Amino acid sequence: MKKKVIMPSILIIIVCIVLASVILIQQQQSANNGKSDNVYSTKNHKQRPSLNVNRQMTEKITIGAIGDILIHDVVYQDAFNGTKYTFEPMLENVKTLLEKPDLLTANQESMLGGLELGLSGYPTFNSPHEVADALVHAGVDIVSTANNHTLDKGEKGIKSEASYLDHIGLPHVGSFLNGKDRQQLRILNKNGIKIAFLSYTYGTNGIPVPNGKDFLVNLIDRESMKDEIHRAKKEADVVVMSIHWGIEYQRIPTTEQKDLASFLANEGADIIFGSHPHVLQPMEWINTADGRKTFVIYSLGNFISAQYNDYKDIGGMATIDITKHLSEKGNSIEFSNPVFYPTYVTNHKYHQFRVVPLENAGAFGLKNADAKYKEIQAHMTQWLR
Ligand SMILES: [Zn+2]
Repeated sequence: MKKKVIMPSILIIIVCIVLASVILIQQQQSANNGKSDNVYSTKNHKQRPSLNVNRQMTEKITIGAIGDILIHDVVYQDAFNGTKYTFEPMLENVKTLLEKPDLLTANQESMLGGLELGLSGYPTFNSPHEVADALVHAGVDIVSTANNHTLDKGEKGIKSEASYLDHIGLPHVGSFLNGKDRQQLRILNKNGIKIAFLSYTYGTNGIPVPNGKDFLVNLIDRESMKDEIHRAKKEADVVVMSIHWGIEYQRIPTTEQKDLASFLANEGADIIFGSHPHVLQPMEWINTADGRKTFVIYSLGNFISAQYNDYKDIGGMATIDITKHLSEKGNSIEFSNPVFYPTYVTNHKYHQFRVVPLENAGAFGLKNADAKYKEIQAHMTQWLR
């Protein structure tokens, strides 16, 4: 008789324990994912947190960056089929690659002012809005817009670009509509990791910033960069700086780039994605005075453009893993595993522009693609060894 009473009681206790555990885990997961100031939220949650016996949770994502989206006239002419502009085929061969990271940023070098402002190539660029559609289609999550071409179409170009990007929901940073817009940090939340994106340029090709409208484009200035990094640090787990700097066609960064990178790292920038030289410059870890390490890639090169030879047609995607450890003692962030994926821009007499993985570029007419791939990997990782 005694046995009959005990068995149902044990069963009820076991069921209660299981239910309580499930509820606890769900609460922890939703608390973790829901933390956001909702500046922007991102689309997919590819990964879920893991819970180990020490009651420590970890979140891990991969962030990636590609270089200049520089749409010369021959590139947009190639994208025109007689009625509309379609850039998606140009990125089709690298779509799988670009979908690897959880978050991807690109430097939108040429202005996306659209047809109404009149399309143009070098030296003052204005590209079709549809370029942005192809970036979104390929997996780009945010674009930096502070570079030496930001003022190529003046304030009108910036407004037209911003309104189109807002319309299709592609976050952008670096050029702004007004002071309030500039103050609004661009923070993307991926799997509970909040990442602030900042963007600055050395200049605007001699085109003066209109009086009283400094907000139009972020120019490199140590004081304002420092202030913004500190502000971002309070609201986000990770601060990413896209920066337009350096000397064109130089494959090794200047002392100025190195000095500025060290300054930004010490002020709190965690990842620095450089661009402007149109060729690739190496990756490096910077050890900061407070014991952190900042990842920098000095130049991501051209991702798509009509420039060729002397490494100008070779670009790529850099990625780095970010791990957030959550425990009762507090949270910490860890950066690891920098990887570079070289790409190549191919065309046939200015038609059929395609970005392809460099290791496959032999099939698209590049001689010695294997050797080139090895050479580029050695160049990019020379300071990581
Ligand atoms: Zn540039």
